[in-house]
Amino acid sequence: MLPPRDLLAPIDTFPRRHTGDNAAETAAMLKLLGARSLDALVDSAVPPAIRRGPLDLPAALGESAALAELRGIAAQNQVFRSAIGLGYYDTVTPAVIQRTILENPGWYTAYTPYQAEISQGRLEALLNFQTMVIDLTGLEIANASMLDEGTAAAEAMMMCHRLKEGDASAHRQFFVSSACHPQTIDIVRTRAKPLGIEVLVGDHRTYQPDARCFGVLVQYPDTTGSVHDFEAFFAAAHAAGAFTIVATDLLALTLLRPPGEFGADVAVGSAQRFGVPLGFGGPHAGFLATRDTYKRQMPGRLVGVSKDAQGDPALRLALGTREQHIRRDKATSNICTAQVLLAVMASMYAIYHGPAGLHRIARRTKLLTDLLAKGLIAAGAKVNAEPVFDTLTIGNVAAQRVHAAAAAKRFNLRRIDDYTVGVSLDETTTLDDVRTLLTFFNESADLGTPLALMSESDTVFAAPHARTSAFLTASVFNRHHTEHELLRYIKRLEAKDLSLCHSMISLGSCTMKLNAASEMAPISWPEFNRLHPFAPAEQTRGYQRLFRDLETWLAEITGFAAVSLQPNAGSQGEYAGLLAIRGFHESRGEGHRNICLIPTSAHGTNPASAAMGGFKVIPVACDTNGNIDVADLKAKAETHAQNLAALMVTYPSTHGVFEPGIKDICAAVHQHGGQVYMDGANMNAQVGLTSPGHIGADVCHLNLHKTFCIPHGGGGPGVGPIGVAPHLVPFLPGHVLSENRKSGTSRANGAVSAAPHGSASILMISWMYIRMMGPDGLTQATKVAILNANYVAKRLESFFPVLYRGNAGLIAHECIVDLRAWKKHGLEVDDAAKRLMDYGYHAPTMSFPVPGTFMIEPTESESKVELDRFCDALISIHGEMQAVVNGESDKVNNPLKHAPHTAKAVCADDWPHPYTRELAVFPSAFARTAKFWPSVGRVDNVYGDRNLVCSCVGMEAYA
Ligand SMILES: *Cc1c(COP(=O)(O)O)cnc(C)c1O
Repeated sequence: MLPPRDLLAPIDTFPRRHTGDNAAETAAMLKLLGARSLDALVDSAVPPAIRRGPLDLPAALGESAALAELRGIAAQNQVFRSAIGLGYYDTVTPAVIQRTILENPGWYTAYTPYQAEISQGRLEALLNFQTMVIDLTGLEIANASMLDEGTAAAEAMMMCHRLKEGDASAHRQFFVSSACHPQTIDIVRTRAKPLGIEVLVGDHRTYQPDARCFGVLVQYPDTTGSVHDFEAFFAAAHAAGAFTIVATDLLALTLLRPPGEFGADVAVGSAQRFGVPLGFGGPHAGFLATRDTYKRQMPGRLVGVSKDAQGDPALRLALGTREQHIRRDKATSNICTAQVLLAVMASMYAIYHGPAGLHRIARRTKLLTDLLAKGLIAAGAKVNAEPVFDTLTIGNVAAQRVHAAAAAKRFNLRRIDDYTVGVSLDETTTLDDVRTLLTFFNESADLGTPLALMSESDTVFAAPHARTSAFLTASVFNRHHTEHELLRYIKRLEAKDLSLCHSMISLGSCTMKLNAASEMAPISWPEFNRLHPFAPAEQTRGYQRLFRDLETWLAEITGFAAVSLQPNAGSQGEYAGLLAIRGFHESRGEGHRNICLIPTSAHGTNPASAAMGGFKVIPVACDTNGNIDVADLKAKAETHAQNLAALMVTYPSTHGVFEPGIKDICAAVHQHGGQVYMDGANMNAQVGLTSPGHIGADVCHLNLHKTFCIPHGGGGPGVGPIGVAPHLVPFLPGHVLSENRKSGTSRANGAVSAAPHGSASILMISWMYIRMMGPDGLTQATKVAILNANYVAKRLESFFPVLYRGNAGLIAHECIVDLRAWKKHGLEVDDAAKRLMDYGYHAPTMSFPVPGTFMIEPTESESKVELDRFCDALISIHGEMQAVVNGESDKVNNPLKHAPHTAKAVCADDWPHPYTRELAVFPSAFARTAKFWPSVGRVDNVYGDRNLVCSCVGMEAYA
């Protein structure tokens, strides 16, 4: 019983909801492990040399008190109407999408769709997204998705560069139109520099591409709002052997001739204005479309159609061989976590409105823009000479006065210079707004009788700009326009996907922990999600406070001097961190240091990021215990001492072990002039017990979508902030449009994300987690994560060998169990993974970092009941495998080989298996009471890659 004093604590204390507080369960688990206490267990698992003192963080608040405090912070933001443009537009998120996707754990707690059979819902939504992008851009293939528009443009540049590689290293110039968004130019410059690409920024009307140029990038409509005809320019670029890239706007493309029809090789952009809130810059889904011939060089995730074991259509991620997991430093990009949830939302927005609805929204936006232009011209202002869609650049005005008048009416306009102002309209703009906007420029200006001014020509473009081709003709975009139809479609897809709503997802390295409702609630608050990323600082005080809090707390947790929240995924954090290292070396006249040591066990994003950063990757071996081979490391550090730039190391290792030699390893790298980059994906085993700073690293990224409770969203969004030691602070990412640049505290490095604070509008989730857990709760969570992992390892070890162990036979927060011995009996790790679906579970991480294994990470927020259920499922599968070996089960016709079993398969009149239907689909009590039905049978990956189909057109099965 609680002592009376403790009864006075808030009723809604949070750690017991996150981690649990069942003393009897903990005692039972410790007993199995033979540990005296939780602290004793942790003391044996974590090397004493790296332990730290207690976290210096504010004491925990209860759920409602934390929400109340955050409300107060939110209130310091001011929501003005945004007419700033620059690639970010206000939009109306259809309420049905907000409620059933954005705020629905069935969608947001799902993992990346690697297990295709239990991910068909979001795979279908992503296929719709790809189809939408293909149709609107007029290109042949599109991915799902990019991290934002700016990085999509930079990835397109790198893709074109790769396409040229081998051809001639003479092609090192990349032309960028000066009328691209400034943040896009900033990111392109950042990405180009380490690769030795020369960026030429200029006017496409005067630039003449020659043989030195490998690619050109233009914006359509451009950042000033003007629409240009790029046909001749692109023909000239092609004649010179250069590739052509267009950054464009999906809504405008419903009216404009699509890039695919005027010679674009690649189109990029953001799907934000398709129903995804501004969110102070993110997260939103970027897109990239190209011609079919370039598909193998495309960056990012691609969904494709294949077939399942029964021959029915089934979806899965296609062409995985292009990606970092396989290609490592030769990968087409380092993107791992993408923007799935936001791509799903944007695709549903297109489905909800349909082609006619989108066309109508676009015509309305153009009509209002043309009316505003007429009013402004009548009032003596100067506007774009070229046709416009939604944006005007207005010259000949007293900008200060205009902005002051706008601010008085709570509008933000784009600041250009003292005489020029930008205005962008969007879906939310009304005729009254246009009247109001006009008064900012001329108090007495009057639209007169707008009806008389309006003409059909204001709502469409003339040749050669006019779109004549149809778009979104697939049935999915033409049948869900009533709310009931869309609601049921969304729910139908949701039901195909296994998420944390169903059972634990023990994804090693990905830390699929609780995403608590109180953490998620603030993402819907308008004070956070309706702010434009370039709104004036005095309106964003709440965000600034939020950033300051999080930066301070994460710096304390990592043991570093400063934190940048800009990178919008772990991969982007790696890249930003490596750029910081590069900048540091350059500042000391050691820019030649270009060797990056990476253990063979590293995650594929590490070598991919290093290659993007212009580093040469040298692999370091691992010993039989899964630890870095310290002798090999020291030898390589010494051999390359002249050019050693960095070591990238994951801690605890990707083998799930606290390597005792880590301090030594850091020292060896430092001794030879290198910097230590720590991949913080395994931070869940460190928080409160040790830290990258204490261990001796110089920089580290965190995955807030792993350790700090941002949900995985089915494959994104994410946040990958980096923490750095004092000497690297000057090399954190900057941003061309951020206030700190203007105020003179500019940073040496450019931007790595389009928005200064990346995925700002989901940072509240991590803020709430830290605020509600407090220092003790966070440390306890780490301890319980270690306990849970060791408990699972103990329960499984007599069935499947646990591969690597640290001190006292203990592991860190995850374990690798070995299934390789079964291969000689014809049983693959894949068979066990697919069979787990019949039991209602998502497979653990497969074949990383060791082929033929499962890496299991239970996290601290699973109860003993759930851990036992999961272990029981694996043990039962072990029995089924043993039956095959013993000859009790057929070698090929057994429940493992035919897993997963669909309802269709077990209900069929024909049941060609020697085992029962009951065993097939109800192999456990849990499966019987809480059956999750895989919607397709085992997916044929090879077939799909051989017959690549990446749009829903012609896929009648999905109608
Ligand atoms: C998840 C992960 C990454 C990549 O992070 P993203 O957020 O997916 O880009 C890198 N390294 C390790 C060890 C990881 O687990």
